[in-house]
Amino acid sequence: MPSVAFYTLGCKVNHYETEAMWQLFQKNGYERVEFDSKADVYVINTCTVTNTGDKKSRQIIRRAIRKNPDAVICVAGCYAQTSPAEVLAIPGVDVVIGTQDRTKIIEYVEQYKRMRQPINGVHNIMKNRVFEEMDVPTFTDRTRASLKIQEGCNNFCTFCIIPWARGLMRSRDPKAVIRQAQQLVDAGYKEIVLTGIHTGGYGQDLKDYSLAMLLEDLEKEVSGLKRLRISSIEASQLTDEVIDVIDRSNIIVRHMHVPLQSGSDSVLKRMRRKYTMAEYEERILKLKQALPDVAITSDVIVGFPGETEEEFLETYKFIEKHQFAELHVFPYSKRTGTPAARMENQVPEEIKERRVHRLISLSDRLANQYTSRFEGKELEVIPEGVYKEDAKGTFLEGYSDNYIKVVFPGSEEMIGQIVRVKITKAGYPYSEGKWVRVLDDLNDHERLVINQ
Ligand code: SF4
Repeated sequence: MPSVAFYTLGCKVNHYETEAMWQLFQKNGYERVEFDSKADVYVINTCTVTNTGDKKSRQIIRRAIRKNPDAVICVAGCYAQTSPAEVLAIPGVDVVIGTQDRTKIIEYVEQYKRMRQPINGVHNIMKNRVFEEMDVPTFTDRTRASLKIQEGCNNFCTFCIIPWARGLMRSRDPKAVIRQAQQLVDAGYKEIVLTGIHTGGYGQDLKDYSLAMLLEDLEKEVSGLKRLRISSIEASQLTDEVIDVIDRSNIIVRHMHVPLQSGSDSVLKRMRRKYTMAEYEERILKLKQALPDVAITSDVIVGFPGETEEEFLETYKFIEKHQFAELHVFPYSKRTGTPAARMENQVPEEIKERRVHRLISLSDRLANQYTSRFEGKELEVIPEGVYKEDAKGTFLEGYSDNYIKVVFPGSEEMIGQIVRVKITKAGYPYSEGKWVRVLDDLNDHERLVINQ
């Protein structure tokens, strides 16, 4: 049996697509082996979001070539899409595929084996207007299933290279989304995370269909789906219609990741983000009104070119005022090829670092405040794995619907199930709890009664 090994760099979407490519290899009789072992085919799914992503991708490619110089080396993903010539110039690279035509990977590998000629399968991504359908009915090692619903982004924020790597917005056919969701539920997943490059933009390119409609249809048509999470949604995409669907839903979780990037209108303008702080604020207040316990998490870029102390403080105060449940803080890093990399007034590294620390301490404080609201309460947690095993027994870790990481004593059979856990000690990065019952044997009516 021929063997294949994968290495994935970057985001959740890349991880999803690695699974999709693995499905294709599996159907063609391959076995999957660890990346560090000797394989017949290596697939490196690359990332290009920062300059370091490119460098790391090159290192991994070289590592695969060293492992087995006779293997077929395939390089896929964002870095391959933006710099195919650079990738092909690495001696030992055999097949390059970007962020489309991944369904042809087996064909390319076979062709390479016959002809022994390097293959460049990368084409202009900007011309592509169709979502590439790839089946992922199960995941290799996860308890939470992702479901990719869209590709690409039309926004062209000034710091971001992603539209050049992924192309323009393409939504997956709603019927395919629902079919895939049902397959995932049938495979035993309790929670599905809708993912994409610009997930909340789903439907923008579809006629008479929207994200709100997809959310409703998933709840109506997928039997047995217990939890539905949206990986990320822009404030402007939290329309009244979407908030209304979330409010009425029994399965959409009380957690929204709403990228902020900056809390200052002047910085947002330089970033070419498409909202003002007043608009962002209005949307999240509306969301909180509908779901008072919602956890709002966000991404913030610190030290964007020209960011003054005043602009930084506007961001800081906004986050403090709205009590975000957790922040992902990134120091601005120049991405070659983007307008922001060429801007003047780049912020010195030490200032960026100080600002990053201030925001991380704020995030820690707010996260503790948020979780403390749930001390003594019961939450539904899906354990994802073993946190530790010691003399006191096995401790599991997992996330509640509102994205609190909870550690509690339990048994391995609970992994992947919905477990009702009482929070005994709230904290961050994790809270401690004690399980009350496994909800799996309950029917939906019983679940509802317990939830009320
Ligand atoms: S919205 Fe902006 S940051 Fe996000 S993928 Fe699109 S261009 Fe990049």
